[in-house]
Order: sequence, then structure tokens, then C-alpha cells
Amino acid sequence: MDDGRKQFPKGMIPLGKTKFHFRCGPGLKCYMACCRKLDLILYPYDIIRLKKRLSISSEEFMRTHTRLGASSHPFFPAVMLLMSENSEQTCPFLGVNGCTVYEDRPTACRTYPLERAVDRNPAGTRPAEYYFMTKHSYCLGHREREEWTVKSWLRDQKLQAYNGANDFWAEVDTLFARNPWQGEGAGGPRQQLAFMVCYNIDGFRRFAAEQKLFDQFRLESSRRRVLEYDDEALQKFGFEWLKHILAGSGNLQRR
Ligand code: SF4
Ligand code: SF4
Repeated sequence: MDDGRKQFPKGMIPLGKTKFHFRCGPGLKCYMACCRKLDLILYPYDIIRLKKRLSISSEEFMRTHTRLGASSHPFFPAVMLLMSENSEQTCPFLGVNGCTVYEDRPTACRTYPLERAVDRNPAGTRPAEYYFMTKHSYCLGHREREEWTVKSWLRDQKLQAYNGANDFWAEVDTLFARNPWQGEGAGGPRQQLAFMVCYNIDGFRRFAAEQKLFDQFRLESSRRRVLEYDDEALQKFGFEWLKHILAGSGNLQRR
């Protein structure tokens, strides 16, 4: 019976305001055990944060640290973090004392031990987000006493900026899932362009300058100035531009 309430797969219960226990850090026997042999998806915002952190270009980041993987649909690939080629297949950012990119670690590393799901079509008008507890058998952090709510965990892990940016990306990926490539197939010119916008922000900045892209749309001068140097603002613009050219949707208005 559909009573209008969101249905979840069996065994998945959203945490809501329920408290949970967790602590991660040096001193735990499992410390750093989780930073290896990972199928870790990188979202476009993760890549901006990491390439800045490493002071390398987005091209170099993509070339050195990523591989393609399967996404939730066949019309656009996922980008995965490439593990090191050592016997342990460790994360390339794992140092002797822990994560060397901690302040800019990817969404997945921040969110664990939670998992986030977003329902874009709830009965109400706004997308709804849900968090679930996830446990790796080797993870001893769940036995610790520190107590959290979803809200306090999100704040502690500084996830708001990540979730906000990932939601913009999810809107675009929902569009990709509808196969907007007009028969070009995977790897066609439109998909390559979209891949650049999503994952190669430095390449997109050059493209935008060459094509005088900002001149083609009504943009407030303050936003226009920010777009010249701010990767996060440019990525958001890029997502709007993709919606515009692929589906005629989004907020951009031509001059
Ligand atoms: S296994 Fe769990 S507690 Fe241990 S380091 Fe990883 S996330 Fe932290
Ligand atoms: S980015 Fe940091 S926290 Fe995430 S897997 Fe790598 S070393 Fe671990």
C-alpha cells in the first residue's frame, strides 16, 4: 500500500534524529585500514578540492589519480580514485600518519560511517535527503563511545559545502541518465565536452575564454568577475550551461 511515505530497500532505515556512536582516529587498531583497495567515486567538487590541495592542474589530477568506472546508468562514466600499485593498493593520499589531504578529502571519506541518499521527487516540493548507517566489518570506530546525530556529524565533517555542490552535480547526472547525446553515443563530441565541464575545470576555463562563453549570457557583473578565478563558481556555471545546451533547461539566459 502506498501511503505517501518514502519506501526504502529492506534493511535500510534512515537515521533521522537517532543518535549513533562512532570515533575514528589514531589509537584505534583499525586506523588507516579503510584507506586501501577502495572503489571510491570522486565527484566533480571532490576533484576541484583535491587538485587545489595538491597544487596541480585538473588535467594532471585526472591523468595521475583517476580511472573511469561504471556509474548508476550507462550514459556517462563515473570517475574513481586510482589506488597505488603496491601490494596493499593503498590510497595515493595515505601517508605514514594518516590522510595527507584530510582537509580536502573526498565526499565518501567524510561521509562514512553514514551514507547519503537524496530523493529528488518527494511528495513535497523540495528534494529530501536521508542518511543511513553503514559498517565495514573491520571498522572498530562503531564500538567507541562518542555520540553523534546526523546533524552534528555533517557539521563536524564540514559536509555542507560538499553536499551542496554534489546536489548540483546530481541534477546534471540525472540529465545525463536520459541519454541527451543525440545519437552520438559514448565518447561523442557532446559527451566529451560534458566530461570536460564536470572533471577538467582548468580545461573548461580555457574553453570558456576561447569561446567567450560568459559574453553569451546575461550574467551580473559581480558573478562574471567571480567566474574568472573561482573554480567552484565556474563549475556551477558549467552545470547550468550543460543543462542549457543539452536540454534547454536551467537558469542561464542568452543575451
Ligand atoms: S576502519 Fe573505521 S575507525 Fe578505523 S580508521 Fe577506518 S573509518 Fe576510522
Ligand atoms: S583520501 Fe584520505 S581518508 Fe580518503 S581514502 Fe585516501 S587517505 Fe583515506
